[in-house]
Amino acid sequence: MNKQHCINTAICTEYQKLLEDCQSALEIWDSHRAEVCTSRLVGKEAGDELLRLQAKFARAYAVLQRHPQDCPLCQMVSTMEGRDSRNSWDAFSDSTKYV
Ligand SMILES: [Zn+2]
Repeated sequence: MNKQHCINTAICTEYQKLLEDCQSALEIWDSHRAEVCTSRLVGKEAGDELLRLQAKFARAYAVLQRHPQDCPLCQMVSTMEGRDSRNSWDAFSDSTKYV
């Protein structure tokens, strides 16, 4: 999780939800991919399921990336990021990094 994500999730609950969706979709995709690898599942069915999970993650990620364009809270975050208040935000994101 990068710094921008930390600040956005601390401020915007919608962003946090989208990020969680995105991460869980990625985890499911990853674990399924590992499962396919270890069990040497082959064939159309295993491939279709992987593609489906990958598409689900891609969709969640696209929504996450698009969200700040429509969200005043997240726009505020990026405005603050651009200002000369780095030190306070660094301290802030340090405390939320491991949540
Ligand atoms: Zn937002």
